[in-house]
Amino acid sequence: MKSSPQQTLSTFAEINILCPICATPMHQVAEVYSMCKVCRYMISSEQPGAGAEIVSLDAVKEKNFGFICKIIKEKFSQAKTVLDVGSSTGHFLKIANDEDLSATGLEPAEDHLKLKGLAIINLPTSDGLIFRTAFLLNKLGIKAPFNRLWQKGFASPYVHYFNVQNLKRLFENNGFVMQYSSPLYYYTIKGLWNRISCKSPFFVSVFTWIGMVLLYPLLTLRSDCFMACFFLDK
Ligand SMILES: [Zn+2]
Repeated sequence: MKSSPQQTLSTFAEINILCPICATPMHQVAEVYSMCKVCRYMISSEQPGAGAEIVSLDAVKEKNFGFICKIIKEKFSQAKTVLDVGSSTGHFLKIANDEDLSATGLEPAEDHLKLKGLAIINLPTSDGLIFRTAFLLNKLGIKAPFNRLWQKGFASPYVHYFNVQNLKRLFENNGFVMQYSSPLYYYTIKGLWNRISCKSPFFVSVFTWIGMVLLYPLLTLRSDCFMACFFLDK
């Protein structure tokens, strides 16, 4: 389903999909992206395929994974073992094991899950300042930043975009209770150039890098990344 530029600017077309969180009809907001106007959950119809992965995320992952391990040890000290679902290169596993947590990784599967376990989610958020700015620019016809946030055209594009509130509601709908949430770093200056320039033209990369370095203190005030911890109720 495609919308004209006029339609994208002025109205959101309702599509034949209900929001999986609040059962409200989803609205197409741009090309492959749709949004629930009630809880602001967003979905993309982009499919995984051939393409480059984002590079140079090690620095920001190091910072956020270290923070998550600290939260586990401080706030959920009974948790001694960690199951990293979607462990990819095993970066979190290494940091967790370095922090004396016994960590195991797997790609999504129902085995191994414990009924009394703690689910820790680490995601980008649609409430972040970068996402909101890119969303506005996309409506004005400048689409590259928004497509980049969804990793459109990369090997693993994002299919869902949550924020703390609608993720909490999704988990509550499935019997969980949120115990804790916190913003995380969305990016660090270290590694930023390679992360931007791995897929963007040189001059766009320079412009974006300068902007993100100068705005770093501002953009971390309303971060584009967060963590949330859930227990299964009873
Ligand atoms: Zn909704």
